[in-house]
Amino acid sequence: AKREGRNKYKFYCESMQDELMDKKEVEAILRNAVKNDGFILLYQPQVDVDTGFIEGFEALLRIKGYNISPLKFIPVAEDTGLITEIGRWVTRKAVEQIAEWKEKGYDTKPISVNFSSKQLQDTAYADFLRKILLEKGVEAEYFELEITESILLEKSSNTLEFLNTLKDMGIRIALDDFGTGYSSLNYLTFIPVNKIKLDKSLCEKFLELSNIKVMNSIIGLAHSLGLVITAEGIEDMEQYKRLKKGGCDYIQGYLFSRPVKSDEIEKIYHINMLD
Ligand code: C2E
Ligand code: CA
Ligand code: CA
Ligand code: CA
Repeated sequence: AKREGRNKYKFYCESMQDELMDKKEVEAILRNAVKNDGFILLYQPQVDVDTGFIEGFEALLRIKGYNISPLKFIPVAEDTGLITEIGRWVTRKAVEQIAEWKEKGYDTKPISVNFSSKQLQDTAYADFLRKILLEKGVEAEYFELEITESILLEKSSNTLEFLNTLKDMGIRIALDDFGTGYSSLNYLTFIPVNKIKLDKSLCEKFLELSNIKVMNSIIGLAHSLGLVITAEGIEDMEQYKRLKKGGCDYIQGYLFSRPVKSDEIEKIYHINMLD
């Protein structure tokens, strides 16, 4: 009976996941995944607001066999330094995916990869990325890096030099989670960013009529700086309509698709998400 109780507890842990899992357990799971090819990338479409076709995808990391949110395991990866190796795995996998879809005859569409500010400590990252792109025959313009403004707070490293190196390589850079932090458009004039991703929490505010002016001015300001805008976490049609009216370029959210495995993406790759 005792044994059964234990198994039940274990089952409970694995299925009900995270809250019960402490940092040490997550770290052990991460180390195991790094060693044994235990990660998988899901892809979420970014849809062109005007046409309804998929413009690109964001790669989102999962641990095979576990139901742990990246919101839980990425900070552990950062604290333990595992983020360097994990970040390189994500980069390689995303580039391989672009190459695979190209080989299978799909139109090439960019994949965006999340870049943790802690990965600045991986000083050879840009060289690594350059090598992978060359090796897989993927043009740099199809690889997009998503950074957050916290990257500007990493004092020890030369963030601007790093971002300019990527820019010179032809890599696109998106500013993620816009609207959650300082939300100053000021630094957009000196960091080489191509795209702004409006955070879900900000987009939710646009459901209130009183915030439409704010939405329109953010979009207008970004466009005047030559940037494109993706709205994130869009779940309903009303949001979509407002964002379209306001001139938003791309939309990413459950309204169109959750993050899914690559074979699921293949079924929707060329279809119109508005139909
Ligand atoms: P993020 O970069 O802001 O990614 C968007 C998150 O919003 C994803 O959560 C996505 O599944 C979720 N999402 C998209 N559309 C909707 C929607 O309509 N409604 C709701 N409720 N959620 C939506 P996910 O995959 O759990 O990732 C969470 C965070 O973990 C990411 O936030 C990112 O900061 C981090 N992350 C994920 N993968 C990686 C990775 O490979 N490397 C790094 N450094 N961070 C990652
Ligand atoms: Ca992101
Ligand atoms: Ca985001
Ligand atoms: Ca447009």
